[in-house]
Amino acid sequence: MRAMVLRAPGEPLREAELPAPEPGPGQVLVAVDACGVCRTDLHVVDGELPDPKLPLVPGHQIVGRVVAGGERFAAGDRVGIPWLGWTCGECRYCLSGRENLCDRARFTGYQLDGGYAELAVGDERFCFPVPEGYDDLQAAPLLCAGLIGYRSLRLAGDGERLGLYGFGASGHIIAQVARHEGRRVFAFTRAGDDQAQELALGLGAEWAGDALGPPPEELDAAIVFAPVGELVPAALAAVAKGGVVVCAGIHMTDIPSFPYELLWGERVLRSVANLTRQDGEEFMALAPRVPVRTEVEPFPLEQANDALARLRAGEVRGAAVLAVRA
Ligand SMILES: [Zn+2]
Ligand SMILES: [Zn+2]
Repeated sequence: MRAMVLRAPGEPLREAELPAPEPGPGQVLVAVDACGVCRTDLHVVDGELPDPKLPLVPGHQIVGRVVAGGERFAAGDRVGIPWLGWTCGECRYCLSGRENLCDRARFTGYQLDGGYAELAVGDERFCFPVPEGYDDLQAAPLLCAGLIGYRSLRLAGDGERLGLYGFGASGHIIAQVARHEGRRVFAFTRAGDDQAQELALGLGAEWAGDALGPPPEELDAAIVFAPVGELVPAALAAVAKGGVVVCAGIHMTDIPSFPYELLWGERVLRSVANLTRQDGEEFMALAPRVPVRTEVEPFPLEQANDALARLRAGEVRGAAVLAVRA
């Protein structure tokens, strides 16, 4: 199969012909139609996350069709393979409904080969049916940008005035969910990022502007999607007493020190790590009801490095997706 492979962090991916993976017990072999490009892929490729499997096929927003294996899906079924690829089922986290924190969790496109390839295998218990009404490219960003955004939104509480720091793949999906829930959405982007601001306003944000400038009014909650530590004190300063700031990314630059006053007033600062299967089932049911419409920028598989470079430069409008099936 054709694949884009990471041999060492910090190097570009290389196009390679690899033997087809073979599904083990309980695994499905999936012919990949599309694979979303997530900022986490960038952190893996750039060496900002420790100890990836090497060589590695990145990618954890996989939409494809079952070819063989498993019992849960029939051949030809469309499935999604997400970031959470396997959990132990027996640690204190798994046993308390927090499998996203499993001590031994294994992640797709990090410890397990992912979807920057024509074929992928996944543990069928962690795969999701993909909702009808989305083509493969549009469905791919639901698998992580949507899921992590959804978990972040839940953990942000039900405040009305929601700030989104960073308006890319996750932000543009979660803005739609938040509007559907009747919230007011404020989009905080890099100064002068007209493209992201225009996208935000088009999706129902009532304000879009510079993340490090003054907010237009107090917020009840903020979700920080951009991997920029400076945004944390900025978001804390923007939320009202009792407000919540959720950091949604797996990696962020260091957070500068800030006066306790920013946290005082029962403000809450927390992170979101990974997803549970329940998050996935809930969000996949919710997305078509909103309905969430994803804005995608497609790239052929062999241009995965270009997709990553555009994401690194903040140039992608919405979500980058590899169109794997020619
Ligand atoms: Zn566990
Ligand atoms: Zn992701």
